[in-house]
Amino acid sequence: MTRTLIAGNWKMNGLKASLGEIRDAAAGVGRGKAGVEALLCVPATLVSLAAEAAHGSALKVGGETCHDAESGAHTGDISAEMLADAGASHVIVGHSERRTDHGETNEIVAGQAAAALRAGLTPIICIGESLGQRKAGETLDFVSHQIAGSIPEGAKAEEIVIAYEPIWAIGTGEVASPDQIDEVHTAIRSRLAERFGADGAALIPLLYGGSMKPGNAAEILEVTDVNGGLIGGASLKAADFLAIYGQAK
Ligand code: PEP
Repeated sequence: MTRTLIAGNWKMNGLKASLGEIRDAAAGVGRGKAGVEALLCVPATLVSLAAEAAHGSALKVGGETCHDAESGAHTGDISAEMLADAGASHVIVGHSERRTDHGETNEIVAGQAAAALRAGLTPIICIGESLGQRKAGETLDFVSHQIAGSIPEGAKAEEIVIAYEPIWAIGTGEVASPDQIDEVHTAIRSRLAERFGADGAALIPLLYGGSMKPGNAAEILEVTDVNGGLIGGASLKAADFLAIYGQAK
């Protein structure tokens, strides 16, 4: 059975004063529930503190990007090994904001995902089209190309997570419709089946991301081939994060 993952992405938000939200989220998740994982990906400065705050609960903590190298002359970067050392279990790679702000290509993202696997982290590999690509009818071709290029050679199905995040729905309040999500997730699962076989593809959680909130989560999580969410704004408050987690099966 495919695992369900409810993952938050704090982006460049959060100070030590925000750790109360992690503590509240950890308290709400408690020992967790069967088949559903809860994760908060936080800025690198907070990973170690967040991991301490979540200790003893089923809430996991992740990073938001990593370099492909283990260490070295890369001022300001952070390696997957450093995130793992700080207590992370997952790392987001290839978020559209990183692809846009830092010119991260599929090849770079694949290197980051490989680094995550090397360090024992689960990479959450993000893909998704722009509004222009959707309007031009290029969505399925574009995400298929991103999948092919962003999953590293040799990755095993059970080690990775894919997040489909249409760029036009991220932080905009505009949510993809269940039909739009269904169409893309079905296509993603088919591409994954070509690479990992049907049994392998069935092991890979496919998350939807883009303005997911307590009020729309149930409808999104009901869509076939949606195995959870990657949640930005609504993950900053423990109450909202927990309200979404509470709806996941
Ligand atoms: C995200 O950051 O990955 C995201 C989906 O953001 P939001 O939920 O705020 O749209």
